[in-house]
Amino acid sequence: MWAHVGQSFTPGTDPQAPYDVLILGAGRMGSALALALTEHAPHLKTLLVEEGGLPNEDGATILAPGIWTTAHLPDSQHGAARWTLERLRALLGDDIQSRRYLTLHDQPTPGSQPTRDLLGAHPQSLALLDLGVLPHARAHGAHTYRPGTLAQVAAQSAIRRGTDLLLNTRATPHPGGRVTLERLTVTNTHQVVTHETHTLHAPLIVLATGAHAPTQAEHHLGVHTRHARAYRQTPHLAAPSTEDTPVLHAHGLTLRPQHGAYTLIPPIHHRDPHGYAPQGGHLTGVPTGLRRETLEDLVGLMDAFPALATSDLHLGRSLADIPGAWLALPGGQPGAPPTHDRLDDHTHLLLGGPHADTLGLWTADELARQIAGGSGQ
Ligand code: ADP
Repeated sequence: MWAHVGQSFTPGTDPQAPYDVLILGAGRMGSALALALTEHAPHLKTLLVEEGGLPNEDGATILAPGIWTTAHLPDSQHGAARWTLERLRALLGDDIQSRRYLTLHDQPTPGSQPTRDLLGAHPQSLALLDLGVLPHARAHGAHTYRPGTLAQVAAQSAIRRGTDLLLNTRATPHPGGRVTLERLTVTNTHQVVTHETHTLHAPLIVLATGAHAPTQAEHHLGVHTRHARAYRQTPHLAAPSTEDTPVLHAHGLTLRPQHGAYTLIPPIHHRDPHGYAPQGGHLTGVPTGLRRETLEDLVGLMDAFPALATSDLHLGRSLADIPGAWLALPGGQPGAPPTHDRLDDHTHLLLGGPHADTLGLWTADELARQIAGGSGQ
């Protein structure tokens, strides 16, 4: 493992192609793939390259909700979800908790019960919502965990089984199985600069760079894809929650109990256009750190969740006050499951996106099996 530029990078013995597989990006998807390759194809020598640390503070992984649930999946994806849950349990042990997950509705739906009955034991949850607006609820099983921990555990297990890891290194893919690696360092004026550059060749490259991957495919490999990206903010609601408080979901908004309060996970409506830069919006003339789309969603839900209309909702003053990350949208669709794609003779793309909590490990494993079966090369 090479963590910083003080450790000189000395890839394997063959200077032309020291690795069989280069995985670019050590978020949860890249890390999961590295681990799955050590299981399905232990003969392959793999290098995992990450621009930041593990987990990277800028990546989608660290801010992902970490909610496994089949509540929003079609039946055809339940098998992959259950497989992912078994795998999460094996990797995370006690770091995954089971919780109830309630979808709240204004109309009865198949399997729904009165919200008041389902939340009878949770007065703190009842205090957040208006039962007149959301009288019906359906309970689902769910499990919560930290996706950042998952990325760490998967990468560490892969390293123990022989994968190499290069941190603080920006990778750029090129056609023909070539990758340039810039090892980054920080100057004493806090600027990130390139310390040294390496070029590696490998028969197989996997872009697991999250929301960056579709742009990298287009700019550096000349392959246009249908994948896109969206910026998601996860504001804080300072209402109290406990270890067994249910996750609540209504009209696309998820209230995820976390750290004794709630993290709000707003819906993703569509891809963000190329060149879009997120910026804070205004609420009744006052600048906030929540962008316009997120504000509109939350204002629209204030009748259902009066708690959103109180000072418990952290609005911030500028974008930097509200945690947010770019998320890949497989196929450009907010509802699409994680996916992998063959881009050219040497390169695969591996994308997590909004459903990575529930299906990401399965998709990474599927790509590892494909590579092990020889169809990846
Ligand atoms: P996912 O859920 O798909 O794993 P993330 O955004 O969490 O998505 O992970 C992508 C990872 O790829 C991040 O940790 C990010 O720092 C890393 N990354 C993005 N671009 C590059 C790059 N050019 N070189 C190396 N790593 C990169």
